[in-house]
Amino acid sequence: MTAEVGQPQRALKVAGAPPHRVHLSSDLHVGAGEFVVIAGPCAVESAEQVDRAATAVRAGGAHALRGGVFKPRTSPYSFQGMGEPGLKILAHAAKRHRMPIVSEVMDASQLPLMLDYVDVLQIGARNMQNFSLLRAVSKVDRPVLLKRGLAATLEEWLLAAEYILDGGNTQVVLCERGIRTFEPALRNTLDLGGVAWLKQRCKLPILVDPSHATGESTLVTPMVLAAAAAGADGVMVEVHPHPENALCDGHQALTPEMFQDMMKLLPAVLKAVGKTLFGAPQPLRVGA
Ligand code: PEP
Ligand code: MN
Repeated sequence: MTAEVGQPQRALKVAGAPPHRVHLSSDLHVGAGEFVVIAGPCAVESAEQVDRAATAVRAGGAHALRGGVFKPRTSPYSFQGMGEPGLKILAHAAKRHRMPIVSEVMDASQLPLMLDYVDVLQIGARNMQNFSLLRAVSKVDRPVLLKRGLAATLEEWLLAAEYILDGGNTQVVLCERGIRTFEPALRNTLDLGGVAWLKQRCKLPILVDPSHATGESTLVTPMVLAAAAAGADGVMVEVHPHPENALCDGHQALTPEMFQDMMKLLPAVLKAVGKTLFGAPQPLRVGA
């Protein structure tokens, strides 16, 4: 891909440039060879639910806590999220468990509130081409996790990232969350080929969300391992203390036990591709 007018320019890798490191908080960054794990419930439902989820994911080794308080639901009659009371719950749990917060902003009008509580602003799949929202987050001093749209090409996704970069915010992380294809067996089709393709061309860190990509909790761990092998810089997974009672996306939520089992399997795959979990001791180099 050449840097012609209308094509992504800033997101593309400059030959010889170092990897683009994005700070998710003062002591957590992504994109420099270490693998980051973001975990937590789809939606904030109660203080107890978030605290149990945060306790479990922190114990398992997660680096950041996710949880939605503004939920983009297909049906207007589904649970829409708790709004500001949910942000207070998240902030309390994040402080108690010492993890930064990732949460979705659905509209530019929510930004002032979100900036009071959230470390990383998520832009969801349905808003990937909400250009006024992309412009709005381009003007704030906060990292942005930009999910791939349900029907977006890789090029369209990069151009959406370009809106944020062009406005002056270079703290952008991409997140592949599956695309809609002709295959109905899974919720979406996880495009790991696209992840590997982007890793060769783009300097932005790339995460994978196998929860929304598969829609099925038993498929999450295998796809986390595959994402690590494909070169992703990290994953974001949904974890609920009681998936059967979840108000949103319970079918794809890992239980605390499943999350902890997943985390035990990750280091071997990361080692095979020359990476470690963020914060894990670096392997000794012979002769170093
Ligand atoms: C989410 O992560 O909570 C979410 C709604 O994901 P997506 O935008 O990928 O559907
Ligand atoms: Mn969800």
